[in-house]
Amino acid sequence: MKKSIYLDYAAATPMDPRVIEVMRPYFADKFHNPSATYLAARAVRKDLEAARHNIAELLGAKPVEVVFTAGATEANNLAIQGLMGHYPKGEALVSAIEHESVLEPARLFNHKEIPVDGKGLVILNKLSNLINDKTVLVSVMMVNNELGTIQPLREISAVLDKVRKVRQAKSNKTPIYLHSDAAQAGNYLDLHVSRLGVDLMSLNGGKIYGPKQSGVLYVKAGTDLQPLIVGGGQERGLRSGTENVAGTIGLTKALEKAQQSRSAEAKRILELRQFFEDEIHERFPESTVNGSQKHRAPHLVNITFPGVDNERLMMELDEQGIQCAVGSACSASREEASHVLSAIGLSDSLARSTLRFSLGRFTTKVDLVRGIDVLARLSSAR
Ligand code: PLP
Repeated sequence: MKKSIYLDYAAATPMDPRVIEVMRPYFADKFHNPSATYLAARAVRKDLEAARHNIAELLGAKPVEVVFTAGATEANNLAIQGLMGHYPKGEALVSAIEHESVLEPARLFNHKEIPVDGKGLVILNKLSNLINDKTVLVSVMMVNNELGTIQPLREISAVLDKVRKVRQAKSNKTPIYLHSDAAQAGNYLDLHVSRLGVDLMSLNGGKIYGPKQSGVLYVKAGTDLQPLIVGGGQERGLRSGTENVAGTIGLTKALEKAQQSRSAEAKRILELRQFFEDEIHERFPESTVNGSQKHRAPHLVNITFPGVDNERLMMELDEQGIQCAVGSACSASREEASHVLSAIGLSDSLARSTLRFSLGRFTTKVDLVRGIDVLARLSSAR
């Protein structure tokens, strides 16, 4: 049997061997609880704090602003529930194409959805119009996990700065914060928090060749959050529970490596993606690539093949060793069509004819040529 071709890097990435290597001691000799006071435990605490320091440096943040979580879902929940719990009379604005781990916590509070245009970009003037005196949180993801659309975070941050000035002039003390779910961004984009203008930002180890269930919430100093998990008071009281030291050390190495290679990797993946899209257009002229051509992370290709049942095509591809996705992995088992595709104006039937391919570190041109050949063979057999 031929080797399988993995085109679902947006769902999960294999662990970088260098990451596994640095995690290994924390499963064996360095197993101690970092809160214990003897020397061996204090050494583990030191490693954990060094990891926090490294992450802070990569983000252009202070170490106290880095909160370790179990993945991006938890980081998003801590950001949204933590902030809205602190301002129960406030209102949140979330983009219509957020991941469920942002949409679901937002639904627990007063909230509105910010519409996106046909390419999946937040419409700035609609966002401005939705902000009122009670708005305390705006949450817009950095890279959408289905389309790859990169949102204009700096422009959104500038809108919020203006709101802060107006509020100050009116002696309205209600704060307004910008949160961004950057789970899909770590391999390709700059994550410097002050350049982006974010107050809260979620990251995920499992998408950057690090361990699953590892993540970070960046919390700008002075941002009041309520914890979701209370207990022993770890992570400045924001996330109780004995720290996942191995996961945190792994996540740190993964982020370090991903950020070091991000420009070169973005260029390489973009060339591969262009080749893939050109070939698809030639072989399937009726197909369309969804999302923005210009403002799109390099790893994602979301394609509609009109008239094709995406679930069936995905399974047929799988039988031929090609692994891709229908919408996002998390919504794949649900009945409804993707909320992201419906937000950009795709009908239900077109959404059900859409597949997501996502490229990554081990994708080669040979893989893509084979993927396209299989697609062509399956479509001519139909
Ligand atoms: N946010 C985005 C944009 C994602 O793509 C994902 C995972 O697919 C998550 C959040 C949730 O990550 P996790 O399931 O690892 O917590």
